[in-house]
Amino acid sequence: ASVWAQLPQGPPDAILGITEAFKKDKHPKKINLGVGAYRDDKGKPYVLPSVVEAEQRVVQQYLDKEYAGITGVPDFTKAAALLAYGPDSAPLKEGRIAITQSISGTGALRIGGAFLQRFYPGAKAIYIPTPSWANHKAVFSDSGLEIKQYRYYNKDTIGLDFDGMVADIKNMPKGSIILLHACAHNPTGVDPTEDQWRAISDAVKEGEHYPFFDMAYQGFASGDTDKDAFAVRHFLAEGHLPCLAQSFAKNMGLYGERVGAFSIVTASAEEKVRVDSQIKIIVRPLYSNPPVHGARIASTILNDPALNKQWLGEVKGMAERIITMRALLKENLEKLGSKQKWDHITDQIGMFAYTGLTAAEMTKLAEEHSVYATKDGRISVAGITSENVGRLAESIYKIKG
Ligand code: PMP
Repeated sequence: ASVWAQLPQGPPDAILGITEAFKKDKHPKKINLGVGAYRDDKGKPYVLPSVVEAEQRVVQQYLDKEYAGITGVPDFTKAAALLAYGPDSAPLKEGRIAITQSISGTGALRIGGAFLQRFYPGAKAIYIPTPSWANHKAVFSDSGLEIKQYRYYNKDTIGLDFDGMVADIKNMPKGSIILLHACAHNPTGVDPTEDQWRAISDAVKEGEHYPFFDMAYQGFASGDTDKDAFAVRHFLAEGHLPCLAQSFAKNMGLYGERVGAFSIVTASAEEKVRVDSQIKIIVRPLYSNPPVHGARIASTILNDPALNKQWLGEVKGMAERIITMRALLKENLEKLGSKQKWDHITDQIGMFAYTGLTAAEMTKLAEEHSVYATKDGRISVAGITSENVGRLAESIYKIKG
């Protein structure tokens, strides 16, 4: 018999299942709000003009295809750290941030998970919000960390359960690892305010916890890369020494190029050198060294002042289109006479909106209206366009009233 004769069938990926169902649907105006990738107002994938320009420059240099070092393209990682931590960051100026290029945000989280599993002196467990990006659980448990959760979303207010979150942080055993979405929380679109971040930072400090930031949407949330980095920079200013996963999938539209970075803020330049050495030892047997092409594109954009400025404008454009679609969806629902409150649609931020629709309502949305999204009620606002927003609002109205 085959060695795989007894291998059980694994469950399909939730998002891929939605895409399958969407593809099969014959409705001429079907809508796919499942995928977490930006679409332009015509519903088409968007290659940023700054990326096109940077890629042309990279290609025209006819660079060789030699291996990068284990930690990737240095010009890229240096610029990525600057983007996240900001030019005024003391740890950056003092040379005490260890950073490595990674296979986008997922790879950054995975390196972080492996590092903590191997070296974290406290409990090898990580607290993630309820809910969180579906892959967090898998990434961290595959890294050998135990998964624990803290309260985050309040389904009654369709907003942040701030009190629950802070209470849970205070109740964690001293020195716990806590994962925080830096901005544009996925899947809820619900972020703490700046004041709430200050209180969260205090609670994390009080518990001597270790903050792990996942920043997959810098710039994509508000349209401003500095504003979206508020939480990370505030924690640094408060003396925390967090680690950080960065992704350039969304803010540069480099999804398939897999461009990201993982960094650890350390206490001294000497400590940074030791951390660097161990990061390399973790990365080497995982994939030896990261791909160079996407990192060269990102590096070209980040390091050329004019191109960087252009890119920031394009990020802002994407964020603004999403913010406009949120407003239009709410406006259309109100115009139809919906008796529900839809403020959460415009209060939330980033790629996703948590509609508050139940799993049964989401099934109806797909079966009766050919509108596809995940059963948790999350819709990708990036999939809404000026053309389909009216029909989307009508479909939701017919189900929710
Ligand atoms: N973290 C969060 C919260 C995300 O939403 C995503 C993208 N869906 C990622 C990390 C990582 O994505 P990628 O590996 O494509 O950078």
